[in-house]
Amino acid sequence: MFTHPRHTAIKFILIYTLLFYAWVILFQNNLSLRLWGANMFPLIGGSVSSLWLFQAYRHSQPHHKRFWLLLCIGVFLYFTANLLWFIIQILLDRNPFPGPADFFWIASYFIFLTAVLHKWITLRRVISSRAYAYNILIFMTVATTLSTYYLIWPLIVQTEDYTAATVISIAYPVLDIIMLFAALNMYYLAQYSDQRKVLLLLSAGFTLQIIADTVHMSLNLTGTYESGHFIDPLWQVCLLLCGLAGLYEVEEGKARTNEGINNLNPFYIGFPYLSVIVLFLLVIKSSHITFNILSAGFGLVLLLTLLRQIYITVENTNLIKEYRQLAYKDSVTGLYNRTKFHKDLCDFLARSGDNQTTFGMMLIDLDRFKNINDTMGHPVGDQLLAAFAHILRKIVPQDDYIYRIGGDEFVIIVQDLTASDCVELAEALIQNMAAPFKIQESEIIISPSIGISLYPDNGSQPDDLLKNADTAMYHAKETGKNNVKLYSPELNEKASRRMNLEHGLRKALENNEFTVLYQPKVNLKTNEIVGVEALLRWNHPQYGIISPMQFIPLAEETGQIVPIGEWVLRKACLQNKLWQDKGLPKVHVSVNVSVRQFQRSFFVGTVREVLQTTGLSPQDLDLEVTENVLHDTTTSVSIITELRAMGVGISLDDFGTGYSSLHVLRALPVNTIKIDKSFIVDITASKASQSIVRAIIEMCNHLKLSVVAEGIEDAGQLQQLRQYDCTVGQGYYFKKPMSADAIEKLLRNGILTEGINN
Ligand code: C2E
Ligand code: MG
Ligand code: MG
Repeated sequence: MFTHPRHTAIKFILIYTLLFYAWVILFQNNLSLRLWGANMFPLIGGSVSSLWLFQAYRHSQPHHKRFWLLLCIGVFLYFTANLLWFIIQILLDRNPFPGPADFFWIASYFIFLTAVLHKWITLRRVISSRAYAYNILIFMTVATTLSTYYLIWPLIVQTEDYTAATVISIAYPVLDIIMLFAALNMYYLAQYSDQRKVLLLLSAGFTLQIIADTVHMSLNLTGTYESGHFIDPLWQVCLLLCGLAGLYEVEEGKARTNEGINNLNPFYIGFPYLSVIVLFLLVIKSSHITFNILSAGFGLVLLLTLLRQIYITVENTNLIKEYRQLAYKDSVTGLYNRTKFHKDLCDFLARSGDNQTTFGMMLIDLDRFKNINDTMGHPVGDQLLAAFAHILRKIVPQDDYIYRIGGDEFVIIVQDLTASDCVELAEALIQNMAAPFKIQESEIIISPSIGISLYPDNGSQPDDLLKNADTAMYHAKETGKNNVKLYSPELNEKASRRMNLEHGLRKALENNEFTVLYQPKVNLKTNEIVGVEALLRWNHPQYGIISPMQFIPLAEETGQIVPIGEWVLRKACLQNKLWQDKGLPKVHVSVNVSVRQFQRSFFVGTVREVLQTTGLSPQDLDLEVTENVLHDTTTSVSIITELRAMGVGISLDDFGTGYSSLHVLRALPVNTIKIDKSFIVDITASKASQSIVRAIIEMCNHLKLSVVAEGIEDAGQLQQLRQYDCTVGQGYYFKKPMSADAIEKLLRNGILTEGINN
């Protein structure tokens, strides 16, 4: 209908008000015309406003509908009251006061109040502070005091007999106090609601209503009010303001997304105080030193102001406490965080210094947690951390303190325990973690490495204690993970070695410090060399030759494994091609690949490129992966399938030591299984190892997989493996890992002689 209905509405309100005033002024001395105007204009104003509010009801969002319906009914009742007044005063020519119109007016006030209460209830959840209740209460007390002193009390005093007229006359100022409550609430709620303009318009409308009523009552008190007075249009303006609010709702409501914004107008906070000052001035002005309504009201207001202050102080203190809690908590596990750890540690040290108590610091790191995060994703990692925190809470005594101080690093401060008690607690934790964690359909086994330092034996400063617990924890990791170690000064040397290694690793590739050795894989029936495994060595400038068992985990942690692994791959492929070019018997070369390398998106591309540049055929390359790749079976299956399609062989290394169950053999398209040397080492003595090895070999035969037995060290082991029909073996009994030149010589002979000294 209109492009901007509210602009048209504003124009309408202005013109309507002007016309109303013009009529009242023009016909001031013509009673009958003045009365006609005074009755007709309200009928127009009321019906237009009802119509606008009905529009708001129809077009507002479902959760606002009830509010607009109530307002619409309120205005409609008001309109009905005007209509009745018109019928009685003009058509029936009788005195309309008191009469049925008053009933409708009073009813409309109640409906307005209900609408405000309804709004308040829907917004309650977003109103964070209850201080506003005090603000309103203080303001209301001031208003009630003033209204009682200046309006209601004089009415009561004047009244000799209580007729309907006097009761209703007293009812209006009382209702206006209620309306004031409604207006204040609207104003307050506007600060919290996204219906801000709408509520402010309503608040303005209600306030205007109260002003008009108050002026009307003062005029009544002096007997100077007549229908068609200058204040008459004011009532209509307030109805139209309510209607205008409805139109704003229609236009703005659709664009709103949520209710509940929180930016309190500072003016509102000063509001009640201002009213107290006004009341105070009036008390002084009333010059009644004795007790009266004004001074009683003032007393009450002072009391309320005091209560409000107390309430705000308590609320603020609680808020500060809450924020402090949040600043100290880790959101993933709900444990205390690093900040709280430092604070508590300093407190402990301060206290322990006084009364000679002791405490232990347990530093816990989850083994291979990075792998899980990398392969299964961070959400799974987070759930695992939370599940671990749950176990910590379960086993740690109540007054001890548990913190998460880093990604997968946790600290427990254990009070009043001896070193062996601490170790016992750590062992209990390790035991509790033996069972797999069930997270999102998968079962994850994760173990902790725990280092313990004791106060005061291992340090009296926070940094020393943490550093020493860290050293002990690394030692626990180095000695096989899933382990606990107490700090001792000798560990420091190991820690500094580790640091040096970590540091040196970054430059090792550049400085040409790596070499690759090769260990033959032998056909156990013919003793022919069928392949060689490339094994990396690091010739450290300070420590000499270092085993990959020491530096590969470091390289995995730092990510260095990616360039290092690629270097080994290239070197091994090139070497094999060189042997082939020299006309030596064809063998395949096996290269170990760590999980971090393997699951890089460009791994397959790297392999393809290396094969192309070196000219080695894919059939002569074999990649050895461990069961760790199974953390993310889907990705691994697709990578292995792609590599197999290229013709590259895949071996599952160290079989039997990892997490996997047998079903992985079906899932992973590998073509070789390498039985871990821990089963071979006692194959002659242990019946259990014999059964396991035999079962693995038989299963592989059924599944048409090749089997390699690792770590054959003596004739007895070889004998046993031959009995079980194991086709390929590798071990010191044949040859230790050796240089490329040494392998070349062996390959020239073709067939290996068994025996330690060969
Ligand atoms: P692995 O792949 O299982 O390699 C076999 C390891 O067993 C080698 O240790 C080898 O020297 C050793 N070994 C062979 N025969 C015997 C034996 O008869 N008795 C005993 N006790 N040991 C034997 P090494 O060379 O120290 O390598 C250790 C591990 O380091 C390898 O285990 C592999 O997991 C890893 N590694 C080595 N080179 C690389 C590499 O280039 N990249 C990656 N990612 N890992 C590598
Ligand atoms: Mg290997
Ligand atoms: Mg192995």
